[in-house]
Amino acid sequence: MSSKKKQELQVAALENGTVIDHIPSEKLFTVVSLLGLEHMSNNITIGFNLKSKKLGTKGIIKIADKFFCDEEINRIAVVAPNVKLNIIRDYEVVEKREVRLPDELKGIVKCANPKCITNNEPMATLFHVIDKENCVIRCHYCEKEQIRENIKLMDN
Ligand SMILES: [Zn+2]
Repeated sequence: MSSKKKQELQVAALENGTVIDHIPSEKLFTVVSLLGLEHMSNNITIGFNLKSKKLGTKGIIKIADKFFCDEEINRIAVVAPNVKLNIIRDYEVVEKREVRLPDELKGIVKCANPKCITNNEPMATLFHVIDKENCVIRCHYCEKEQIRENIKLMDN
């Protein structure tokens, strides 16, 4: 089977919905959790450790009848910056999108400063993204900066 044909099969058979592609395999389950997929009743197909020329292996998530808003989808840029979205309608890709870091991250990332108020009070964290290319974020409350490699997500 040609590799083009194989690739087509990997994203085939979704009538309406969203295909999230080019997810690094080691980030797949983080993405699942960031999008709250375990709480959805939609038909969801998850491909894990699929072969990818660019990434070695990758993950794909297909979600039937779900169209994300930017705010929902852009949070995954924190862990997987080069993810691609295919919006499917009537078995056709009608739109391709890339995730982009939003200006602010609310309630997603943990502050690395143990003395930060967000680690000591029951409140949502808030970070300003100050460098989208390199994913540098700054805590709104204590101003501690973090880079992508050090970012820890909230537990749930
Ligand atoms: Zn902080």
